[in-house]
Amino acid sequence: MTGLHLYNTRLRCKQSFSPLEGDHVRIYSCGPTVYSAQHIGNLRPYLFADLLRRVLRAEGYRVTHVINITDVGHLVGEVETGEDKMEAAARRSGRSAGEIAEQFTRQWREDCRRVGCLDAQVYCKATDHVEQQIALARRLEAKGYTYAIDDGLYFDTSKFGRYAEFARLDLSAQEGGSRIGDVPGKRHPADFALWKLTAPGVRRQQEWDSPWGRGFPGWHLECSAMSIEYLGQNFDIHTGGVDHIPVHHTNEIAQTECAYDVHPWVNWWMHEEFIDFRGDKMSKSTGNIYLLDDLVERGVKPLAYRYFFLQAHYRQQQTFTDEAIEAAAIGYDRLVGQAIEVRGVSGKPDPEKLGEFRERFRAAMRDDLNAPRALAVAWEVARSRDLSAAERWSLLAEFDDVLGLDLAGAVPRTAASESNPRIDARVAEREGARRDGRFGEADRIRDELAAEGIVIEDTQEGVKWRRR
Ligand code: AMP
Ligand code: ZN
Repeated sequence: MTGLHLYNTRLRCKQSFSPLEGDHVRIYSCGPTVYSAQHIGNLRPYLFADLLRRVLRAEGYRVTHVINITDVGHLVGEVETGEDKMEAAARRSGRSAGEIAEQFTRQWREDCRRVGCLDAQVYCKATDHVEQQIALARRLEAKGYTYAIDDGLYFDTSKFGRYAEFARLDLSAQEGGSRIGDVPGKRHPADFALWKLTAPGVRRQQEWDSPWGRGFPGWHLECSAMSIEYLGQNFDIHTGGVDHIPVHHTNEIAQTECAYDVHPWVNWWMHEEFIDFRGDKMSKSTGNIYLLDDLVERGVKPLAYRYFFLQAHYRQQQTFTDEAIEAAAIGYDRLVGQAIEVRGVSGKPDPEKLGEFRERFRAAMRDDLNAPRALAVAWEVARSRDLSAAERWSLLAEFDDVLGLDLAGAVPRTAASESNPRIDARVAEREGARRDGRFGEADRIRDELAAEGIVIEDTQEGVKWRRR
């Protein structure tokens, strides 16, 4: 297989990639719903989209990346009922929906940066694009794809012949058996809201006037409206979690292909698998979550979490356990340690020797972003005895443009990056004992710390400790 091949959910196979327009690749990624803190599972979609971007960059493409921020319309229930997640969070905390959205957007963007994700060119908020969403719903209404009921304006999925195609849905199985809690008046369980009316007697923080009455946009509408706004009526790649295939992405496709008579609206659909957590799905709604700050508190660097992500293929389910993240943290430290030994060493590399590793690294990433295989090539380089220090650094620096592990600047976990007053005090005591010639005492402290996995090292800046 030569050239970049990416798995396309739309066709259920890997395909040779080429953009619609020259060397410009346009990507839209479904972003976070900002009603609470994003957990480390929620970061996987953006680590995946970032890896995709970096591989495209290495292949010589120019990328425009748009990520949306859902700050209205995402309901708590599975179907078109239940409270809006933002409104519910506002009610619980006594703060405004706007304040909550701002806080968690800021935190999410900071976390994305900490795990090495490049900034997108556009971050767009649903509440800033209500006008475009109303325009899209009107367009669908004018073309006869909608019906109005007491709850709002709905998309009539029976009018779109390809509705079941993308997710390979069995719509007849859904028929008749309406889902528990579903909206009265819906013609088919799969039909979805384009505009929801504020219920009588209810006051929402977030509501707008529309041709159908005061209310708010259905969740799916924002991604169609904003991707068209920033990327045009056709674009190259749409990403998101696998959970989006049967409903959210199916509905985005229905709306957009009907409104604009385009097919396929998006060429490549790419979906990343979930991270499970101690045998269960990590999910905000079940409270089974781990934040990036929780890892940092335990001495795991954010980039070690990126290293953990790179250890599995993005289409593989990945299991998060204490042992797995600790193993990744150690692996990352070791790779950084290897990089430090050769960092900045210059010399004349042998192009033939570099070429072989470079080709294997590239081939792995070109094969639907096979990061674990590419990481293994980086390790071969780091450990190679055939390559000079300059050659190793030249390759590692180049690979790191794609891996994003900051091999040029990172330091391993040492006293400098981790502080622990108890260990600092024991190390100082040992130093005192050595100075006073109490070598037995000094050795005893060293052995005691070694039993905890702490290694003491003499460096130019004095004595330091690190975890083994
Ligand atoms: P949300 O903020 O809940 O809308 O989720 C944001 C994104 O995170 C969605 O694209 C989900 O598919 C994805 N996601 C949620 N939980 C996980 C998980 N445990 N592993 C991987 N992706 C997840
Ligand atoms: Zn979306």
